[in-house]
Amino acid sequence: MNGRSRTHPAACVLARLPGRVLALASVAVVAIGTIPQEASPQDSGRLWKVHDLARPAPRVVTPGRDVGQPPSDAVVLFDGRTLDAWTSQDGSPARWSVRDGYMQTVPGAGPIQSRRAFGDVQAHIEWATPSPAVGAGQDRGNSGIFFMGKYEIQVLDSYQNVTYADGQAAALYGQHPPLVNASRPPGEWQSYDIVFRRPRFNGAGALVSPARMTVFHNGVLVQDNAELWGPTNWLETDPYRSHADALPFTLQDHDHPVRVRNFWVRPLADTPADERGARESRPRVTVTAAALDRFVGAYGTPTDRAAVVTRRGTRLFVDLFGRGAPLELVAQTTTRFDFLRTAGTADFDAAPGRPTRLTVRVAGIERSLERLP
Ligand code: MG
Repeated sequence: MNGRSRTHPAACVLARLPGRVLALASVAVVAIGTIPQEASPQDSGRLWKVHDLARPAPRVVTPGRDVGQPPSDAVVLFDGRTLDAWTSQDGSPARWSVRDGYMQTVPGAGPIQSRRAFGDVQAHIEWATPSPAVGAGQDRGNSGIFFMGKYEIQVLDSYQNVTYADGQAAALYGQHPPLVNASRPPGEWQSYDIVFRRPRFNGAGALVSPARMTVFHNGVLVQDNAELWGPTNWLETDPYRSHADALPFTLQDHDHPVRVRNFWVRPLADTPADERGARESRPRVTVTAAALDRFVGAYGTPTDRAAVVTRRGTRLFVDLFGRGAPLELVAQTTTRFDFLRTAGTADFDAAPGRPTRLTVRVAGIERSLERLP
């Protein structure tokens, strides 16, 4: 550049326009005449930068030996031997029978409830309906698992057994039919794997967010984060009313000898355990476009262009390891940059003029790269 601006072609056109149009158009001239600036990216709102090595590692849980067996942090509600974790609803000992590793409804004994109370949980439960099948519709192998004593996932013999869709096995009773009927024949063991999120109420007792369930029936997705309309009931759903954050499970006695085994739950945290992440980086210094230009180029070896630095307006980018998707760099000093949304740094050597070396630290990798001609 010789320091003198050339007349922008748009200005030649504007010279031929009447005054009023010219006044309006002059705003555009200002815009056209400025150095193009890349708009700053919107804050992603993410709590952590990508690959931040300071991000807490997840807690270790030892899974069960076989699929469906309780992991190390599970609360086992029935292990096939005793009903110690259960009572009748009046607090007296549970009167369901236990044998051969399962409990079985004793018709007329009434529902049983867990001694412990739970809110958000992952739950695994296995059940079997009587064989040969007896009865039809709702009167065939009926029981149910009530989360918090209020929200029933139906247990029913739904193998070649017609009933209303919102009351068949794996329905959220009276509200959401299962997405598919994944039932096994009567007498065979079936499984539910469930994620239950309790409803939230505010201090005034008003509903903030409804209860939700995701359910796999025999490994098949049957409820996909379904929102419950309120506590389940026969003929009509009950309205939500504020209740405790943790309440016992209830297992239904519907006068059918239904079997249950291998029932365990994992209480779930309200939210991810750690949200104290570093948000995306902000520039600490301003580096002019001309100063950024000295970093532009390729770094690595003649056979491995590991980093290619480019500039768009006043923003600097680096494409690493041939990804083909440049990452934005944000100036922390005149030679040191943070990645905008990825945890890591890019340091150019501090020699004046064009740098000869770029050191990249990202995702546990540190590479010192020579500038390529
Ligand atoms: Mg039922």
